[in-house]
Amino acid sequence: MMSASLDFRAVDLPESTQALRQEVRDFIAQVQPQIPSLPDSNFDAASSKWFSQQLGAKGWIGMTWPTDYGGGGRSFLDRFVVTEELIAAGLPVSFHWIADRQSGAVLLSYGSEQQKREILPQIIKGEVCFCIGMSEPNSGSDLAAARCSAKRSGQGWLINGTKLWTTGAHQADYMIALVRTETAGDNRHAGFSQFLIDLKTPGVEIRSIQNLAGNHTFNEVVFTDFYCPGESILGKEGNGWEQTMSELAFERSGPERILSAYRVLVELLREVKGDVDDRQAEVIGKISAHIIAMRRMSISVALMLEEGKNPALEASVVKDLGNSFEKTMPELLRLIAPENTSERFQQTLKSAILHAPSFTLRGGTREILRGVIARGLGLR
Ligand SMILES: Cc1cc2nc3c(=O)[nH]c(=O)nc-3n(C[C@H](O)[C@H](O)[C@H](O)COP(=O)(O)OP(=O)(O)OC[C@H]3O[C@@H](n4cnc5c(N)ncnc54)[C@H](O)[C@@H]3O)c2cc1C
Repeated sequence: MMSASLDFRAVDLPESTQALRQEVRDFIAQVQPQIPSLPDSNFDAASSKWFSQQLGAKGWIGMTWPTDYGGGGRSFLDRFVVTEELIAAGLPVSFHWIADRQSGAVLLSYGSEQQKREILPQIIKGEVCFCIGMSEPNSGSDLAAARCSAKRSGQGWLINGTKLWTTGAHQADYMIALVRTETAGDNRHAGFSQFLIDLKTPGVEIRSIQNLAGNHTFNEVVFTDFYCPGESILGKEGNGWEQTMSELAFERSGPERILSAYRVLVELLREVKGDVDDRQAEVIGKISAHIIAMRRMSISVALMLEEGKNPALEASVVKDLGNSFEKTMPELLRLIAPENTSERFQQTLKSAILHAPSFTLRGGTREILRGVIARGLGLR
């Protein structure tokens, strides 16, 4: 049996990237006092179009995209430090996050020239929001079971079906959806296409779903004979599965897969004010060591993207380890928290505990990722 190996390498960030980190920190110090929400490192905790526009003005959305389309033409390592600093500071990034992380990359690879010219500059300015239309009722882990379908109708397509757990659909301008354009045959991955759906078109029904914390971040999106113009097909008809798999590599490896509960650590350190007992020191030390190791792995994936390699396998490893770690972090910190903590600490901890169950589900569950990793290593 052939076995592949993992391409993790120690990466020293270039000086220019380190300088960028300082620039981002200065920007955060200046802008954070204007943001009313409590800092939260969970990337889909809070959304602010205003904040995304501020980032856009700094050139920190679409940073790696070609300058031809208004992108920054910068490295994936630069993008890494910007995203890491924003998540660590707990800023409201969700309005532009999905578009910047993956939808823009899909458009760059598979979009028509017109789609690129029209939409990428709007993403870069923080003006438009995207959502991901993959999961459906009875089709999450087993994505190939998706049944949402598109049938030709005149010059366009009629879409019927339901997408589920769609983060941000209620505020999104566009969805990139995986849709069946042919009925399923022996090859379950064949016959899918991706569509760029304008969600502001009347006729699409977006129903809110409350998460465990009582917040509305995701939705059920229902299409009933929903008409999409012919040009809304993204890339090649029938190539949807392959396109979606390449999109997932962008979705799975970033700092948001490690640091979702990071603010609990920051707030705990604020509470103890440097005065820790042995037990607290041990837990804080272990958590810090994990963060240091995993962010190096995540930076290594950023380098692979920079080198034009496909990091799908390494990204799955980072997400599995990162999500498992960030899910346990709030509980570990709760157990060492001093008595009589501040309201601010309690709110931060509460939010992390209530959202933690979702960390290992969103973007593909741990169990499924482990199968992907085993297959990638030739073990399955
Ligand atoms: C906060 C959040 C945001 C999300 N946002 C989006 C979004 O924007 N767009 C989108 O398309 N989707 C989104 N999702 C959906 C997410 O991708 C799915 O929840 C996930 O893929 C799992 O699918 P499922 O919920 O149908 O669970 P199921 O597939 O039913 O899985 C249930 C359990 O069974 C396990 N399991 C299933 N199959 C196997 C197997 N073969 N071997 C071992 N174990 C297995 C799973 O690991 C899981 O623990 C979001 C989910 C969450 C929690």
